[in-house]
Amino acid sequence: MIFGTGILQGLMVTLKNFVTSYFKAPDEGGIFTVEYPEKRLPEKERFRNFPFLLYDKNPENLRCVACDICAKECPPKCIYIVREFDKDGKPLKRPAVFDIDFTVCMNCGICEEACPFDAIYMDHEFEIASADRHAKLLYHRDDLLKSNEYFHKIRPTDASAIDARRREAEEKKKAAEAAALAAQKAKEAAAAQAKPPEPPKPAAGA
Ligand code: SF4
Ligand code: SF4
Repeated sequence: MIFGTGILQGLMVTLKNFVTSYFKAPDEGGIFTVEYPEKRLPEKERFRNFPFLLYDKNPENLRCVACDICAKECPPKCIYIVREFDKDGKPLKRPAVFDIDFTVCMNCGICEEACPFDAIYMDHEFEIASADRHAKLLYHRDDLLKSNEYFHKIRPTDASAIDARRREAEEKKKAAEAAALAAQKAKEAAAAQAKPPEPPKPAAGA
């Protein structure tokens, strides 16, 4: 065994990559360094960074029902939720406050896994660096809202599967409601038939 052959082999790899970088395109193995931010690689579909809140069609239709499960499951406790109430003090199924402190969030994705309402998902957005952590990195409800179309754009496989599951659940729910309504009507009709006829009313003046 000759000492130093490993070093020489390593240097040959470096030399080969240095030379080929001048003659080959990046996708052919020519350049290994992407010159970010001028150039960037597309993110992988399962790439995750910070969470966002999903809405259907318009931001009023956010899916979050303020159940607080994600806040309880979040390991560093960086989600803060306050439920919305109507003018009579009745609780509504939506958050008035939904804050996430991105300086604390550790990108674990547990909130996404824990949410039973398909309301929170991990985003691809990562260029959020700021020197002002309180004003810029504490995200409020409206900063977190993103549409289902956006979700389809960044994670088409997951978004399509989730939409299909939700559609199926909705159809099953409608079928069960229709069956319950039909059963109720049949019960009422049977009860009306079983009722004894009312005795004839006495004639006027008798
Ligand atoms: S995002 Fe999901 S888990 Fe979190 S409060 Fe909203 S509905 Fe509940
Ligand atoms: S990704 Fe993890 S740390 Fe960040 S908000 Fe969700 S549960 Fe909390």
